[in-house]
Formats: sequence, C-alpha cells, structure tokens
Amino acid sequence: MLVNKIGEKNKMKYKKVYLDNSATTIMHPEVIKEMQKYFYKIYGNPSSLHNFGKNAKIAIEKAREEVAVLLNANPSEIFFTGSGTESNNIAIFGIVNNVCGKQIHVITSKIEHHSVLNSIKHIEKCGHEVTYLDVDKHGIISVEDLKKNIKNNTLLVSIMHANNEVGSLQSIDKIAIEIKKINNKREQKIYLHSDSVQTAGKIPIDVKRIGVDLLSLSAHKFNGPKGVGVLYIKNGTHISPMFFGGHHEKGIRPGTENVPAIVGLAKAFKIANNNLQKDKIYISHLREKLKTGIINTISEVTINGDEKTTIYNILNVSFNHVEGEALLLMLDMKGIAVSTGSACASETISPSHVLSAMQIDPVVIHGTIRFSFGHYNTNKDIDYVLGVLHTIVEKLRSMSPTFNKKSRNI
Ligand SMILES: *Cc1c(COP(=O)(O)O)cnc(C)c1O
Repeated sequence: MLVNKIGEKNKMKYKKVYLDNSATTIMHPEVIKEMQKYFYKIYGNPSSLHNFGKNAKIAIEKAREEVAVLLNANPSEIFFTGSGTESNNIAIFGIVNNVCGKQIHVITSKIEHHSVLNSIKHIEKCGHEVTYLDVDKHGIISVEDLKKNIKNNTLLVSIMHANNEVGSLQSIDKIAIEIKKINNKREQKIYLHSDSVQTAGKIPIDVKRIGVDLLSLSAHKFNGPKGVGVLYIKNGTHISPMFFGGHHEKGIRPGTENVPAIVGLAKAFKIANNNLQKDKIYISHLREKLKTGIINTISEVTINGDEKTTIYNILNVSFNHVEGEALLLMLDMKGIAVSTGSACASETISPSHVLSAMQIDPVVIHGTIRFSFGHYNTNKDIDYVLGVLHTIVEKLRSMSPTFNKKSRNI
C-alpha cells in the first residue's frame, strides 16, 4: 500500500519521458491488435496440413510479401529470424562457413554493434583474417580505405547502416558500387552485409538500389514486438545454416515460426514506412529543440557526430566533468530514460568502443549520454528534460574534482 502511495506521489510529481528509442520502442497499438488473433484464434502450427495450420502459414507468407515490397525485394529473399542479433549472426557465419579449410578475410568497422563485432572476433579466433576499419571523428568510415584493404581472399564486408550510439550513417550504396566493380574482375565474389537495425523504419531501404547481398533488421526498434527480425538474403546467395532442424525458412532458421511476432513485424514495418516523412520532420524538430536547449543552458558540452551524416533520431552528447552513469541515474529519478552510449555497454565499465574509435578523449567519453527519440515523444517531454537537466549537471559538476578547481582549493 505504502509503495502504491509513493508510486502515486511520484506520478504526480514526475513526468515519464522515454528517450531511449534506440534501445527499444513502445509497441504500436495497431500492431498489438493485429497480433492478438494469432494467439487465440489462428494458433495452428504453420507446418500443419489442416486449416488451423494453413491459415497460420498464409499469415506468414502475407507478412513476407509485405516486408519484401517495403524493401524492394522478392518474397523469396526475406527470412524471418529471432532478432537483429540472430540475423547478423546468420549472415556472417552463413557466408564464412561456406568455405571449409580455406583462410578467408573479412572487413568490418570498429564501430559495429556487438552482434556483428563479436561474431567477427570469433571468426578471427578461428584463424581467419579480419580488418577493422577506422572511423573519422564523426564516426564515418572511408570508402577509399575500405577499397585499399580488400585482398584476394576477402569474402565478406559487413558495415552497419546507422550506428546505434552516435547515429553516424555510412554510404552503403557507395561501398556496394566499389565492391561490384571488384567482383566483376574476379572469380570469388565479395559479399556485402549491412546491419540496418537502426535505419529500418526510419529511412527508406531499397535493397536493389543499395546493392547489398545481406541486410538485417529488428522489429522492436520500430514499434514492433521484441524477439523477431528479418534477414534479407539476395537470391543466389548461399548461406550455410547455423541451426539444424526442419524446413522452416528454407532450413536457414529452423524451428516453428513465431507467427504473432512475424505478423507484428510486418504490421509495424508497414506503419513505420507509411509515416517516414512525417516522423522524420517531427522527430528532427524534437532533436533540434533538445540540442539547442542543451547548448544554450549548459557549458562545456559536445554534440558527437556531424549533423549532415547523423540519423535524425539520435542525439549523443558529452557533458564534461560529469559521470555519465550518475547523470543517467539522476535523470531516471526524474522519470527520464536515456542511455550511456549503448545499452549493452552500460553493464561494462570499459568506455564505449564507438566513441573510442572516434578518437574522443576517454575522460569526455565518461560523461556521454545518448538521447534517442520516437514519434511518441512530445515538445512537452523536451521542455521537461531541459527544465531538469542543467540543474542535475550543475549538481554533479559541483561534486566533481575536475570542475571548478578554484573552489576545490579553498
Ligand atoms: C538493437 C540492435 C541490434 C540487435 O537487435 P536485437 O533484435 O535487439 O537483437 C543489432 N544492431 C544494431 C545496430 C542495433 O541497434
């Protein structure tokens, strides 16, 4: 009871502001509605031959077609998986495991999501060669640098579309053009994979125009359910399976399909793509408002990433002389949810691998916060954050041994 009372008091006092949409998003009500009947009405196993099963199978194939249309792919190129992490693993090991007993070379960047980076580190441990490309101070790789690093035994290039910590966007289409030129001159094709988990549903993705062989996305980053992803596999690309079982997803992802989640993914992807332009304008405005507000009210801050090459829904800010974790926790006490760099890195003490690769001073990295926006955020949310942020920063700085050295010496 007492807990309830305190809860009520907090509710009155504090607004809840969710600015961690790059970690995950709230589900769209229409997505929940669409999924529901697949729990209690159309609950058959899609592999079953009776009507219950057939209807579930029809729902999956409809979802596959819808996703294919939105990516400008063929339905036969769309594979449903258990997450963005799983899509990335299947793409990377699926290509690398095609070769047996030969040493191959893989190119990636230093700022990939851990589901890519740790998969590739494992490949390196198994004796293959890996090049981790540097990024510039805005988190962008150089296509020239990539080109120079291609070797005779290069089999796979895996470069993310938008980075999940700072939002830096890579020119995957330009990379694809260069790889295609090289592929035309040699026998062993180089495959191009892109982790597009942070751009799917935010930027239009046309796999044919971009020219990728493999592309990953995840539903819970665009107001869909957790635990479901897509891997686009260009027709003619052979993938060596990681799991073995039945014929589900052509044996590439065996296991009874998560029908409600697959239906939910397609619905959420459709809604997100229908609102792309509107959301972009609205969310860019919220981001700009928070950015300007922070710059105007708080000294010694740095906005990480270049405006021109950063996705519109991520604002990564370093507050000097502030401990990022402390700032996160104090904002949380006010009902505001943000992240320090990346959600996965927050359990470790080592500084963000992304900001380190961008050559940001480790001391500055320490005070970095990621604000990530969604279309449910409002102007009032931003006003509320700006209302409390500078007070919290000042309070933390007053306790910092590196800030205002004079007063410390007294
Ligand atoms: C969230 C995320 C993933 C992982 O997706 P899950 O569905 O959570 O496993 C992979 N890559 C990027 C860039 C992400 O932001």
